[in-house]
Amino acid sequence: MRIDLHCHSTASDGTDTPAELVRNAAAAGLDVVALTDHDTTRGYAEAVAALPAGLTLVTGAELSCRIDGVSLHMLAYLFDPEEPTLLAERELVRDDRVPRARGMVAKLQELGVPVTWDQVARIAGDGSVGRPHVATALVELGVVPSVSDAFTLDWLADGGRAYVEKHETDPFEAIRLVKAAGGVTVFAHPGASKRGRTVPESAIVEMAAAGLDGIEVDHMDHDPDTRARLRGLAAELGLLTTGSSDYHGSRKTVALGEYTTDPEVYGEITRRATGAFPVPGAGGA
Ligand code: AMP
Ligand code: FE
Ligand code: FE
Ligand code: ZN
Repeated sequence: MRIDLHCHSTASDGTDTPAELVRNAAAAGLDVVALTDHDTTRGYAEAVAALPAGLTLVTGAELSCRIDGVSLHMLAYLFDPEEPTLLAERELVRDDRVPRARGMVAKLQELGVPVTWDQVARIAGDGSVGRPHVATALVELGVVPSVSDAFTLDWLADGGRAYVEKHETDPFEAIRLVKAAGGVTVFAHPGASKRGRTVPESAIVEMAAAGLDGIEVDHMDHDPDTRARLRGLAAELGLLTTGSSDYHGSRKTVALGEYTTDPEVYGEITRRATGAFPVPGAGGA
């Protein structure tokens, strides 16, 4: 069984539509794929409708959080997408992304970059708008050679010249809300230090005590030492460990299924979840 539990579509900052994502996941030989768009579940219906035989879809989202001024991402799986409190929090974060992206456009204009909100809005389409869309505009304008080159202090990195904060949820609140909606939480890429500051281990210890289910260990932004350290921490704290591509289509170089999750861990996630169930593609397992 090949299981990839972290993927983005055009519902946020990926470049595959939800339908393309599930087709590409099947073509990549995956048995299970999770759709985890930033702060939104709006890609679900299209993904379910296009789900190929033999591929199972895990519904989820990647929630934008912040603790002590440090941004982090919380993967949430198999929660009830209609549960009103969590839904309201997702909408709050997602909606605040619009004025925030406009703010980044304004800062870039002050820096002499001829980017416009119309350009960014066109790139984002109906997806939750984020820095990768602004970064794509910078690539189109020839300001930087690639999306990842826009994530520097000169441009869009945390604290960078054109960076603007957005509303982000307290991770303890996120854990509580997801659990109340029947879901399971996995702290995404907790050691991704090249993205900016990471949270201290003491915070992971506290999150585990507050009901965090797992941490993402096998991820392209973790070097071998970081993975070993996180695996040790998870064993100490009784946390599940996952591996995932964090696929973003052509906005990142990683391939679907490049990192995967152990079937036993996947089984445990599905046993814990009560808010939603994995959806088998027609004729699938
Ligand atoms: P936002 O949620 O708008 O703050 O943007 C965060 C997103 O930017 C992440 O989910 C990644 O998709 C992307 N990102 C963050 N750091 C980098 C990086 N160094 N290179 C490329 N993409 C990045
Ligand atoms: Fe992203
Ligand atoms: Fe993330
Ligand atoms: Zn992600």
